[in-house]
Amino acid sequence: MGASIAPARSGVGARDGYNPRSMKPPRERSLGLHRKIDRRDFLNGIALGTGAMMLSPRALLGLGATDEFAPEKAPGYYPPALTGLRGSHKGSFEAAHNLKDGFFERTPPLDTGESYDLVVVGAGISGLSAAHFFRKSAGPGAKVLILDNHDDFGGHARRNEFNEGGRLLISYGGTLAIDSPAPYSAVAKGLISELGIDVASWGKVLERDAYAGLGQGTFFDKETFGQDKLVKGLGRNFWAPDARKGPDPAALAEAPLTEAVKRDILRLETESFDPWPGVPSNEKKARLLGMTYASFLTAVWKLDAGVLPYYQKRPHGLFGVGIDAVSALDAWGLGFPGFEGLKLEPGNFRGMNRDAMRSDEAEDYFFHYPDGNATVARLLLRRLVPAAMPGTTANDVVLARADYGRLDDAGNPVRLRLNSTVIQVQNAGAPASARGVGVTYLRGGRLHTVKAKSCVMACWNAVIPHLCPEMSETQRDALAFAVKVPLVYTSVLVRNSTAFRKLGLSSISCPGGYWNSVRLDVPVSVGDYHCQRDPEGPIVVNLSRVPCEPGLAARDQHRAGRQELLDTPFEEMERQIRDLTSRVLGSGGFDPARDIRAITVNRWPHGYAYQYNALFDRFWVEGGELPCLVARKPFGRIFIANSDADAYAYTDAAIDQAHRAVTELLAARG
Ligand SMILES: Cc1cc2nc3c(=O)[nH]c(=O)nc-3n(C[C@H](O)[C@H](O)[C@H](O)COP(=O)(O)OP(=O)(O)OC[C@H]3O[C@@H](n4cnc5c(N)ncnc54)[C@H](O)[C@@H]3O)c2cc1C
Repeated sequence: MGASIAPARSGVGARDGYNPRSMKPPRERSLGLHRKIDRRDFLNGIALGTGAMMLSPRALLGLGATDEFAPEKAPGYYPPALTGLRGSHKGSFEAAHNLKDGFFERTPPLDTGESYDLVVVGAGISGLSAAHFFRKSAGPGAKVLILDNHDDFGGHARRNEFNEGGRLLISYGGTLAIDSPAPYSAVAKGLISELGIDVASWGKVLERDAYAGLGQGTFFDKETFGQDKLVKGLGRNFWAPDARKGPDPAALAEAPLTEAVKRDILRLETESFDPWPGVPSNEKKARLLGMTYASFLTAVWKLDAGVLPYYQKRPHGLFGVGIDAVSALDAWGLGFPGFEGLKLEPGNFRGMNRDAMRSDEAEDYFFHYPDGNATVARLLLRRLVPAAMPGTTANDVVLARADYGRLDDAGNPVRLRLNSTVIQVQNAGAPASARGVGVTYLRGGRLHTVKAKSCVMACWNAVIPHLCPEMSETQRDALAFAVKVPLVYTSVLVRNSTAFRKLGLSSISCPGGYWNSVRLDVPVSVGDYHCQRDPEGPIVVNLSRVPCEPGLAARDQHRAGRQELLDTPFEEMERQIRDLTSRVLGSGGFDPARDIRAITVNRWPHGYAYQYNALFDRFWVEGGELPCLVARKPFGRIFIANSDADAYAYTDAAIDQAHRAVTELLAARG
């Protein structure tokens, strides 16, 4: 599998920051075991549900069952503008966690009487794409229902909005950009172009000079490095990359690191060292594949162990784990320092993580909207439910205000029902001969059922075994293998950017901080939306975090990180935001009490799809059927999409897997 993908580029900077070659923003990947719902919560939930069930004669008649609870229709329902704890927000995940933990009590469901050609579980890019592909074949009159547990659509592709002094500021709450290590497939490219997105215009929408004169800094925190110190010039300058090899020695000299550590960092980043002269390139690659990057630094380069905290989080944005759980060969693929002397032949190697297998062709296919790939979801929605997304072009959609009240109109051929957690999808009859499916979901505290000819599961693999317990144990195990990577993307509205400007910085890495980075938002202007260029004007600052537990196997780190995220209240995250921003930007005059105007924490306990890692997944190195291939086999009238189905955490996978699932569905339908 791994060896077939296009050659890796070495020398490209680690993607903990914007790629200096193409001025791309980074993919920030940063969160996992479920919080047990206590008995009291559980009882309250059930009491509410049962009470509601007894209330309505309309509901008892099966009439307007979906209208009884319809917050989306309320004037002012507009999730992109909500602040506080967003992403997997309160109320979106408890039912699924109860189901997993065996606490979910099935009260008698209400039959809505609705019947569809297709029900899609999950309104992320994969679910919306599946609905789109299905209609292209089945015709625009085909009846489709899309269900999602969140109060907003787009899945990870989420939009954050702020309004300050009459000015609208848009930022991203998750899926950041059209960007993938491997080239987009013809199907995925075709959809992007069908939606009207002009990827080639990226160079024009990025306002390169908006942060002219501002560079990159590194903040060393006292908890990790003994003292708080902001060092300007350390790290890559994303907006004006220089050609210097390695860190600026003058800047490094300022860092609160021992002389031995500074010397070793400089050696690693500037010297050419071959620990295995005469060994063929492929043998070297095999050795690197079997060790962590951390071991490569201390055991092969024999560097002072004090260098490790400086590099520990570098792979967080892509892998969701640190250098203790990333192979040295993947580190080479990502362009981390220390490999030049090995003279490795370019090209990928079986067992490399797909993130480390970059290709030049993929490099050129990049686009970032102010709300990231939420625009892709919004453009898909416009195709599916035109009344809910005004406008006609891929530029005007940026300022279009979605009309949530129109998502689930009874007259729409496609209906999108938010705040609806699917808890069961069952073939009507034996899987081999099933003529349809029954879908049960929880909405407004009540269980509801709908019928459909087929169902596409565009949710997360790990939830599917709980929704479809009739699947074989083999398939359920393969689905459960996909432990998603937890992450937090936070958008902070600040009064102005003067502190950044005074410090001469637009982006600060925090190798030891609670938050990995503090950055001014990507300066893009699309259509009538213009990025903030006025230093005195309000602006969004992005922070990211990847919770994990170094030392454990990757998937256990993700589980531990997820638990941490679910256990951390918003107040604690806010405290961490105020604490870090005051320490990082304080010398520039930043006062969190005065300058922070609003905070949106987008927490994703189930974030990136898990990508196979040679250190922990022997099948990825040695061959054998991949769990994702076993997991995505059709089960009667149930078909599986979503990015987990390809073990690849990118939008193109979400689209490709939707297309494959719909193709299987159509073939099965004959
Ligand atoms: C913070 C972050 C940043 C990212 N950045 C990028 C990037 O820059 N570029 C890129 O290509 N990819 C990025 N990704 C990867 C991203 O996951 C994919 O690009 C893509 O958005 C995934 O789409 P999806 O539809 O497969 O899954 P999702 O977006 O997760 O959508 C699945 C939906 O199904 C819902 N669901 C789950 N269970 C149920 C249930 N029982 N009932 C109803 N609904 C359910 C989920 O809540 C979710 O809304 C990022 C991911 C994260 C978390």
